[in-house]
Amino acid sequence: MKKINYFDLKTEILKKIKKNGGFVNAHSHLDRAFTLTKKNFSFTGARLQEKWSLVDEIKRKSTVSQIYDRMAYAVEIMLSQGVQTIGSFIDIDEVIKDKAIKAAQKIKDRYEKQIKIKFINQVLKGVIDKEARYWFDYGAEFVDIIGGLPGKDKGKEEEHLEIILQKGKDLRKMVHVHVDQLNTSKEKETELLIKKTKQAKMEGKVVAVHAISLASHPKKYREKIYQMAKEVNLMFVSCPTAWIDSRRSEELSVTHNAVTPVDEMVPYGLVVALGTDNIADIYKPFTDADMWTELRFLLEANHFYEIDELVKIATINGLKVLGIKK
Ligand SMILES: [Zn+2]
Repeated sequence: MKKINYFDLKTEILKKIKKNGGFVNAHSHLDRAFTLTKKNFSFTGARLQEKWSLVDEIKRKSTVSQIYDRMAYAVEIMLSQGVQTIGSFIDIDEVIKDKAIKAAQKIKDRYEKQIKIKFINQVLKGVIDKEARYWFDYGAEFVDIIGGLPGKDKGKEEEHLEIILQKGKDLRKMVHVHVDQLNTSKEKETELLIKKTKQAKMEGKVVAVHAISLASHPKKYREKIYQMAKEVNLMFVSCPTAWIDSRRSEELSVTHNAVTPVDEMVPYGLVVALGTDNIADIYKPFTDADMWTELRFLLEANHFYEIDELVKIATINGLKVLGIKK
């Protein structure tokens, strides 16, 4: 084939990412990666809230070494793409108990010299119920960053956020929270997270994961939120393929793609990082942990072509949200 001259953007961006030390996958759930089977593939049609419980069987049956193997497989895939750092949630609750913690510790020991990994506790049972709270407190000691999922404590989102933010404060750890995942203007979790961050005086220590629903609100509201986010130094992680599959609904809203509105956030000076989220499990059966695919979806869905900003999103912004770089 004859070589032709054109602006090969993928090569250009990947070169710059490499120069910055490689991709940072700022959000994943490695302990559940590659748990998809022919049998549980039928669960993939369930709603998000149902899936929070549907994964129980896998969690209950998995041994520490099975969890370790899956995490190691995912880490190897990251390494093959030149990923420098991973942020991964791990389930710590009454179903899986401390099995993912044990596997995570082994992963840390095994890959210490090759890659930085920051672990965050996923609270699939919430943090308010007594038993859920026990495992939240237990897991918080192990992890590098405190995790949250206010949607799990529906109706008590404020209390959920107060508990996790206080924990972050007490243990001097950052806090990553899954918010605004459902792509509807009925959700205002990002706003609530900002308010609670301010109350807890945790400015600069909190990261909103997803914030998809923000894109479905009118411009005036979105701009108010960007301003508020800026004031408390709230950072974001976008996992584009995780929510681009958001399902059609009859709800009317501004036209938008179901993705974190990065094109609007970056000009506001907000830090946005990139993550894969779930990989080959019942949440995301087709996700294959390819970082370029995630970046490509991010730039396409937002029509965002700022090369240097895309490189930052894929690299140093990830280090910022994981507390590695100021
Ligand atoms: Zn997640």
